Formats: sequence, structure tokens, C-alpha cells
Amino acid sequence: MSTFKELGLNSQILQALTDLGYETPTEIQEKAIPQVLSSKQDLKAFAQTGTGKTAAFSLPILEQIDANSGDTQAIILSPTRELALQIASNITDFSKHLKGVKTLAVYGGASIEDQVRKLNKGVQIIVGTPGRTVDLINRKQLKLSNLKWLILDEADEMLNMGFKDELDKILAVTPKDKQTLLFSATFPKEVEGIAKAYLRNPIEISAGEKNKGTDQVSHQYYVVSERNRYAALKRIADVNPDIYSIIFCRTRRETQEIADKLISDGYNVDALHGDLSQAQRDSVMEKFRSKTLQILVATDVAARGLDVTDLTHVINHKLPDQIESYTHRSGRTGRAGKEGISIAIVTVREKSKLHPIERLIGKKFISTPIPTGKEICQNQLLKLIDKVQDIKVNETEINDFLPSIYEKLKDLDREELIKRFVSIEFNTFLTYYENAPDLNDSEHMRGVDRNSDRGSKRRDDENMTRFFINIGKKDKLNPARLIGLINDQRIAKNIEIGQIEILDTFSFFELDKTYEKETMSAFEGNDVDFEGRSVNVEITTKQRTGQARSGGGSSRGGDRDRGPRKRTGDSDRGNDRKRSGDGDRKPKTDFGGFGRKRPGAPGTISKSTFGSDQNPKRRKRI
Ligand code: AMP
Repeated sequence: MSTFKELGLNSQILQALTDLGYETPTEIQEKAIPQVLSSKQDLKAFAQTGTGKTAAFSLPILEQIDANSGDTQAIILSPTRELALQIASNITDFSKHLKGVKTLAVYGGASIEDQVRKLNKGVQIIVGTPGRTVDLINRKQLKLSNLKWLILDEADEMLNMGFKDELDKILAVTPKDKQTLLFSATFPKEVEGIAKAYLRNPIEISAGEKNKGTDQVSHQYYVVSERNRYAALKRIADVNPDIYSIIFCRTRRETQEIADKLISDGYNVDALHGDLSQAQRDSVMEKFRSKTLQILVATDVAARGLDVTDLTHVINHKLPDQIESYTHRSGRTGRAGKEGISIAIVTVREKSKLHPIERLIGKKFISTPIPTGKEICQNQLLKLIDKVQDIKVNETEINDFLPSIYEKLKDLDREELIKRFVSIEFNTFLTYYENAPDLNDSEHMRGVDRNSDRGSKRRDDENMTRFFINIGKKDKLNPARLIGLINDQRIAKNIEIGQIEILDTFSFFELDKTYEKETMSAFEGNDVDFEGRSVNVEITTKQRTGQARSGGGSSRGGDRDRGPRKRTGDSDRGNDRKRSGDGDRKPKTDFGGFGRKRPGAPGTISKSTFGSDQNPKRRKRI
């Protein structure tokens, strides 16, 4: 591995890199810097966000820039204002020891007169969004006749955002002998088209397989039914007490809706999308960067310019319409050598969209079960214990109160005290997730790929037979295990399973009527055993919970368990909401959960980072 010095950079630039803490070049820097320093050949670079591409193209340009001339010598075109500002700020940092080198970001939504005034003072490096750059060219304020370098950054995004005409216009007014550098995370045919039209005999480089940015990201997917998508999202947040994440949505409306729901459910979240004013967007981004917010719900475009290096998770609430956007989304995590997780929440039907993405990223998605209430409670409890271990006690302040506290608690032994203190935080969370249903889409768990409507049409009461089975919750039965048990009987291939009800000591399930006889003879003939109990299955009437049924006693003591395979009517859902922690309503819990606002709650990042804007009313409730 080379050093920056070996790549051929001068001492002022090296000093700036040391100031920034850059020790060794990233792969794309190692490849691009010597190439651009030694050759005027155009360059086509495959590089994701987070790989250090800004330094890769700007350092060799800074090395060669003529600081004595005020002509614009380099222009970097970037898809968004945020990215343009970020690039300009990086270049200013890289050039801080280079006398006379000036960089300016030009972008829409800000005073063009101000930008013109600064331009007129002589700026060698311009970072511009395509629209504003065209504006300045049309007003004859931006002259590119002496341009030496043109950089197209995130070319795929610029084309996605419809900037093809602007790019054509800008490229048309630049000199023929300039060097063009094109950076893109993906190369769909539109980008290839631009490369063909504007790059002459380009050399191709790639941060490809060894690309640190992407190597550090693992890709997971969770399969849920549509109605459980939001509940799954909350569980992902809750099971990861240290989450610091962007949730990507496809539309502004979806973004705002999800953010509103999470806010009202007590999470430390805000929305970032194009319907917000620039000032609002800046404020949200600043809160997220400073970790006042733990979760940002954002559209692809709005999140583009956000430079955050330590995201733990990127969550695809819904997969993007264009698969290339997935790489941009997932590239927001696993940056600067850190590990990250990119999560896709999909329905069974959306699962097929994962394959083209896998081909694009060259990695497999790992199927991951949606965390159970128990797993969440466990993680949150461990987080709480960590906090107890780490808490700094204010000895002087607390001393005055201790004698009366000791007196009050003198009859409680150590174990009892620990249990009680932990329970103050923990009980409400435990209650919240008590009886929380399994959200995994069991159709996925059975490995049935239902790409057509066939299943849903067939799953009609009339076509189903209801069975009683003599095992229930007390036997550790859950919907997934029941489905497994049914599948184990090999009744028929891809047999349709309808509603499942798991009660305390017995349960019900529905199967395709066509296989009624086969089901009975399979269970009888196989002499089935479950957790040490001999299994008995009987056909019962069509009535569901709360109604009389034959073959299985009463519903006393049983919880209607909204299993993933079940068809649920609205009334069923109402019941579930009352019981489980995944309804739409704000959870009645004092427990913070992760990403939740209340300070001191298990899972929240320390007050110093995340506690600054806490609601005092909430604080009082601790
Ligand atoms: P970029 O892909 O240019 O947006 O860079 C991603 C992040 O990595 C930014 O926060 C950079 O400051 C950081 N970075 C870039 N190159 C290096 C390097 N050689 N060493 C350490 N950090 C770097």
C-alpha cells in the first residue's frame, strides 16, 4: 500500500491530509491520484459513496492547479446542493495550506448575485449543481473556456434526477482538450451513454470488489406482510439499542408519514425531504449529524449530500424503484472503514426485487427473522445494565439524600433491590412486547414464493377446513412452529394454510379443503409428537375465536395470536392491537426503546450526545 507522499502529492497537501487525520490512501485514491497526476487521459471510475472519491479527484487537481491565475480551471458537477457544499468544503480543507487557491460552490436556492460576486473575484475550482451552473453560463458569469478538468460526480444520480440536458449544455461550452473524470457508483446505460459521448478513450478504474465502503456493509432482508411493515421497522429500531440510522422511503409523503408515526411513538426521529424548506432541511441535517436525532427518515434525493460516517444501519422501508439507488442508500453506511448493515423490509411479492440488487452489489442478502418481543427485551435489558455499569454517580449531590434512601430500602436485599430498580424501566417495555405477535411472513418462512395472485384468491373461507390441534402456547407452539409441523407431514406440495390461532393448551389452523382427508390421515398415520406430547388433530367447525366450536373445548385462557400466515379481518386486528406492542397507536410505555426520545431509557445513546433536546415533561416521568 502506498502513502500519500508516494502518490506524488506536495508537502502543503500532505500537511492538510495530516490535519484531517487521513493516514493512508483509500483504494480509489491509490488508483486515481497517480493516474490524473501523470496523464491527461479521461477517466471513468466506478466508485461508491464513502470510498474517498472526493479526495481521489480533487487532490491531483490541487497538485496541478495554477494559483496565480484566477481562471476557472476545474469544475465539479454534483447532483445536489448538499453534495456540492460538502465537496467544496472538502476541497477547501485539502487546499488550506495552498496559497491563492479558491473554491466555490454554486447551487440553486441561494442568491445568484452573491455567487456571481464571488466568481468575479477569480475562483479556480467550482463545484456546481447542473441547473445553477447552466444559469451562470447563460448569464455569461461563468466562463469555462480555460477549463482543464471537468468532473462528473455521481453521474448516475445526476441522470436519475433528470439533468441530462444541463450536462449536455455545460459540456458543450468546455474546451476539447480538457480532462474529463466521470465518477459513478453504477453504470446503467444512460451513464454509459454519457461516457461514450463525452469521454475520449477513457482509462477505467474501479474500487470494485476491494472497495472498503461496500465490503463493510452486510445486507439483510426481513419479510413481512404489508400491514406489518411499520411494526417491523419499530422492532428493528428497538432490537438495536445503539442504532444510528437513515430510513429510506420512496416518496416525500411516505417519508413524512413514517417520520410522524415514529415521532408520535416516541422515537428520536425527523423527516428529510424536498417539501421542506432549505432552512428546515439544514436544521434537520445538523441535528442528525450532531446525533441529536438518532434516526432520519429520508428520500433518496434529500439524503444525498449528508456526510455521516458512522451510521450503524440503513433501512429500506421500501426498496427503491430503481435498483441502482439501493447502492447509494446502502453506501451511506459502512463508511470510512466502519461496519454497517443495510436492511430491506420486503413483502413476499417484493422478494424477487432482491435478486437484481444482489447481482448489482455482488453480494447476497441474508434472510433475517424479525426480532421477537423477547429478543428486544433482552437487548434493551442488556443496554440498561451497561448503562448502570457506566453511569457516573454525582457523589456530592447524592450524599445528602442517601441516609433517608437507605432507611427506606433497608428491608430489601441486594437481589431484590436490583430486580426492582431494573423493573422501573423494564416493566413497561416488557408489557409492551408481551404477546407481541410473530411478524415474520410465514409464507416466506415456508419457502413458498408466491409471485402471483393465485394464493390470495384461493384463500377463501369456503375453500378452507378448520382443524383443532391439542397443543398450544404451553407446549411452546407458535405460528412458525405450527407451520413447520404441518409441512413436516408432507400432506401436499405448497399446501395453502389459512388462519392460525394459538391458544394456551390447544390451537386451530386452516388448510386447503382439498387436502382435508390427506391432512387427517397424515397426522394419524405419522403418530406425531411435539415437545413430548402426542399430537391429536380433529376437523372442527368454521367458527373462530369466541364462537362455539367442536372438537376442542372452550377458548378460555387462550390468546388470539395473530400469526403471519393468518388472514385477518379488521375485527381480529383490533383485538391484536390491544394486546400487542405493534399497533399503530403510541405504545403505553415509559421505556425508551432505542431511538426513543426519553433520556435515561435503556438503549438511548448517552445524554451528552442524544439528550440535548429532551422534553422535560417526558423526563419527569422517569
Ligand atoms: P467520500 O467518498 O469522498 O465522500 O469520503 C467518505 C469519507 O471518508 C469522508 O468523511 C472523508 O473525509 C473520509 N476519507 C476519505 N479519504 C480518506 C482517507 N484516505 N483516510 C481517512 N478518511 C478518509
